[in-house]
Amino acid sequence: MRALWPETEPLLDQIEDAEQLTFARYCHRTLRRPVETALVHLGDSWHSTSPQLGQGANMALLDAAALSQSLSGAYDLPEALSNYAALRSPHVRLYQALSRVFTPFYQSESRLLPLLRDYLVSIASRVPPAPYVLAALVAGSAGSPLRRLGLRNAESLPFSPRETKEPSHDGHYS
Ligand SMILES: Cc1cc2nc3c(=O)[nH]c(=O)nc-3n(C[C@H](O)[C@H](O)[C@H](O)COP(=O)(O)OP(=O)(O)OC[C@H]3O[C@@H](n4cnc5c(N)ncnc54)[C@H](O)[C@@H]3O)c2cc1C
Repeated sequence: MRALWPETEPLLDQIEDAEQLTFARYCHRTLRRPVETALVHLGDSWHSTSPQLGQGANMALLDAAALSQSLSGAYDLPEALSNYAALRSPHVRLYQALSRVFTPFYQSESRLLPLLRDYLVSIASRVPPAPYVLAALVAGSAGSPLRRLGLRNAESLPFSPRETKEPSHDGHYS
């Protein structure tokens, strides 16, 4: 770690004992409805999940966009909050379910499941349309969350192979 990221040195210097470390624990927890009296949940406070699909930040941003859109477009507050929940619930439920299914393959003590995962994914990732399905899963676009928010054009960008740009030699995208 020190060799790879020298800036962490002041933090690493403070660790003398394994007891000082806290190990990450994952759990799935989703509220059935994100709206309570005088309280709206978004992001992790509505739906926290294990990190297999890397969608926590995306989901929080989508919730924020949906809430903002709902607040500006509705007749009154109850309608706005109801729209917010309706806009985001299907995508939230889909990713909660997918992440739960993937958890034993990525985060369990099992030796068999990770082997099975590596074997199956290495085969499946070469057979269309699996590469596109897998890319959509890890990009968070399964379930068309952007289309629900009226952002259809943005949704097509990351997955069109013809539109994918290669980085230049210095690693930047033009
Ligand atoms: C180690 C780790 C790695 C992760 N890696 C990824 C990843 O690779 N990709 C990904 O998409 N997601 C990742 N996540 C998940 C992602 O960070 C969260 O899903 C995302 O930050 C949720 O955003 P949020 O706004 O809902 O909550 P948060 O980002 O937790 O923001 C909540 C904010 O509220 C503040 N707050 C709390 N209580 C109060 C209070 N009483 N008053 C005022 N402020 C308060 C907190 O300080 C915090 O700033 C990771 C999470 C962890 C812990």
